[in-house]
Amino acid sequence: MSIDCQTSAATLHAMQKKLSRVMPDFEIRQKAELVFEINQLKKKLGAIILGHNYMEPALYQTVPDVVGDSLALAKVASQTDKDPIVFCGVRFMAETAKILNPEKTVLLPTNRSGCSLAESITVEDVRWLRARFPGVPVVSYINTYASVKAESDICCTSSNTAAVIDSLESDTAILIPDEYLARNVANETGKEIIFPTRDPGKINDGHPELNYQLIGWSGRCMVHDRYTTKDIEMVRRQFPGVMVLAHPECSAEVVNASDYCGSTTGMINKVRDTQAPGYLLLTECTMGDNIIADCPDKEVIRLCSIRCPYMNEITLEQTLASLKFGRFEIELPASLIERARKPIEAMMRVS
Ligand code: 13P
Ligand code: SF4
Repeated sequence: MSIDCQTSAATLHAMQKKLSRVMPDFEIRQKAELVFEINQLKKKLGAIILGHNYMEPALYQTVPDVVGDSLALAKVASQTDKDPIVFCGVRFMAETAKILNPEKTVLLPTNRSGCSLAESITVEDVRWLRARFPGVPVVSYINTYASVKAESDICCTSSNTAAVIDSLESDTAILIPDEYLARNVANETGKEIIFPTRDPGKINDGHPELNYQLIGWSGRCMVHDRYTTKDIEMVRRQFPGVMVLAHPECSAEVVNASDYCGSTTGMINKVRDTQAPGYLLLTECTMGDNIIADCPDKEVIRLCSIRCPYMNEITLEQTLASLKFGRFEIELPASLIERARKPIEAMMRVS
């Protein structure tokens, strides 16, 4: 992935070739020096840069050694011998890399890269769920912090949730914290789902006699939560034949009204491998630019008023500063790493 050129002039040329459909030339020129410096420093330090699919094109197309979705990047992090690991993504992803590499330095270029899903559940919530549903295994979405993973039996990502649930030796599972992911998996697998709440004023356990198999939580992604079926209807009306792709963090109504549902990499592959007159991506809109840069023949319709503020925190400037000054280092207590590692490794065995 990374633009690995011997000179800054060659770097500029390679960037112009790749990015001219999605960025003005003056901006490419501004960024080329930074890209050259990052790639030189990366080599000198023996570092690896991992980039999530949501990174802005100037970064995504130039400095990561590997790009991908949460699962792919966690797998690379579990196998790399490079040190330090610079994670161009959000905190829960960098924490996962640290948990898999306790003795290595893992850097996150900004310390303001959270996630509304990861923040929607606490350790106390998980303990409450366990006490309420004794013996039921806890499946944590990868979009959780290390402290929540440490309370879990197994993790999952947007690309393997149904397979992880299927692998359990239990007919029932607690799947936290994304309400929509859980509802979408329940629909996909034909399982009944309930959403218990700790708020006594808002009991939403469904009927006591309901034979539920999934127990969810009411966390939501602040980006995917905002897409509606009305958006889909309007785009379909304006662009006949458009293929609509939704991330499983979208509501079940939106997923049902779409033509495809999958992880960020699943969506990219679907666009690459099909020939529709246009594509509507219901996910962080930067990914559309990355697809256009890779597949200039594709028409991608993006709803860019909806952005992930956390993913957009990561820039080339901060990535350079991260390598230069060793910031911001992910630090987790050894005992927490040990406990959080087990559910991630359990997931890796399923995948
Ligand atoms: P993926 O695992 O599909 O890349 O999703 C991560 C994410 O945070 C989506 O909002
Ligand atoms: Fe979290 Fe949503 Fe941003 Fe993904 S898009 S990092 S789930 S807030």
